[in-house]
Amino acid sequence: MTRLGFLLESDSCIGCHACTVACKSEHDVPIGVNRTWVKYIESGSFPDTDRHFSVMRCNHCDDAPCMTICPTSALFRAPNGVVDFNDDDCIGCKSCMNACPYDALYINPETNTAHKCNFCNHRIEVGLEPSCVVVCPTNAIKVVDFDDPGHPVAREIAGADTAVRAPEQGTLPKVHYRGAHEAALDPKLSSIPTDGMIWADTTSDHPTVPGTPSAEEVRTAYTTPHPMVWGWKVSAYLVTKSIAAGVMAIAALLVALGHADVTAAVGVVPPMVAGAFLALTGLLLVVDLKQPLRFHYLLTRANRSSWLVKGSYFLLAFAVICAAWWIAGLAEAETLLAVLAVPAVLLGACAAGYTAMLFGQCEGRDLWQSHWVLPTLLAQAVVAGAAAFTILDVAMYVPSPRAIQWALLGGLVALGSFIALETLTASERHVQMALSTLTRGRYRFQFWVGAVAIGLVLPLALVIVQIAAGLDGSALPALAGIAAAVGLVAYEDAFIRAGQSVPLS
Ligand code: SF4
Repeated sequence: MTRLGFLLESDSCIGCHACTVACKSEHDVPIGVNRTWVKYIESGSFPDTDRHFSVMRCNHCDDAPCMTICPTSALFRAPNGVVDFNDDDCIGCKSCMNACPYDALYINPETNTAHKCNFCNHRIEVGLEPSCVVVCPTNAIKVVDFDDPGHPVAREIAGADTAVRAPEQGTLPKVHYRGAHEAALDPKLSSIPTDGMIWADTTSDHPTVPGTPSAEEVRTAYTTPHPMVWGWKVSAYLVTKSIAAGVMAIAALLVALGHADVTAAVGVVPPMVAGAFLALTGLLLVVDLKQPLRFHYLLTRANRSSWLVKGSYFLLAFAVICAAWWIAGLAEAETLLAVLAVPAVLLGACAAGYTAMLFGQCEGRDLWQSHWVLPTLLAQAVVAGAAAFTILDVAMYVPSPRAIQWALLGGLVALGSFIALETLTASERHVQMALSTLTRGRYRFQFWVGAVAIGLVLPLALVIVQIAAGLDGSALPALAGIAAAVGLVAYEDAFIRAGQSVPLS
């Protein structure tokens, strides 16, 4: 067996970037993206300063989260232990980029597929070393076979004080560093100075560190930009599937309350609303792909360990239940609606909640790995469903409006509690940094005004007034429903972006 990795000797690296250029030339890597690069860290205060170089690249992890999450197995383990990729299978979903805790992947703008260091496997296969190893003038990059204890570099690593990047992520990286500054390996310890890097710009949404926690003054003098890859389409898809799941949950509640005989508001309209929002969910998922015409690979080349694939199965199964409900509603088959109520609620919960497990596979985004994400998603579905019914109530007869208002009230209280617990109980630095961006940084207005004031406080006040005063009109609940929906959109978008705001390299 062979298990290839690298020893990167930062104490020998002279920061010449020959490895970067050789890699670009070997693989035709376009301008603006990199398979490998040399990060500069500067430490100390004038005149007692120092500059440190460290080569960044894929770690060919033994437990590679990019492979687990890749829905089509486009990222795969080669027989020599290297994590390689297959362009023809990649759908450009970018999930690997959020799963990798090291910023190792990028979307090639020419192929619209995910690329990264593949150890120059085409060279290894014919007995050559990777181009970066050959070109390095100081032998700072060495290939190692971790399955051969007698390998000279393996013996070097065994006898030396080496470190890996982000060992706490449990990915078992096979790139070891010797002599690297700790801030080079842990991007949370240094920040890009406000006057910029030495001879490079970064993008406006490149994650940066708010302040340096290190006792020593450290700054990132050069690194490559890594803009966030999931934006409004992902946050919108979270909201649309929440609405679909929630509408069917409230319809099931109305069936349980004995209203299966209300053809329009219980039997026919809810599955139509759910179906429309499920279709929108699918559309958002497809248009967010860099290779949208390959969307069917999710089913035809499925990697069943990926929650993108499992989620697709849940969405499809939920769509089938919605269709069956609609047919039963049209046929006024009340008994069948009662039978469908349980799978409608369960599959709706799966459709709304599976993203928590998908986020759990995003090892690079610790905010998304909180155990509060699943209850938050389920509470959002209840809020979204009840909100949709309060709005429907303005246009058509809806039975038991008070029960729907109680559902909205309960959902809002639960949602507010989960968000509070999520923001107040975080102890890990990566999560605290993301939450700081969410509540005190770039997304604070979206969070406090959009999600909290408009999305929680306003609808809670309106529904409490409606219930406490015993009012019968539909205007206040509908206003509460609209405000709650606006809040969901604001929260999801801020949460998705804040999760990607912590630098990984
Ligand atoms: Fe490479 Fe990142 Fe995948 Fe690890 S998770 S193998 S570093 S791309």
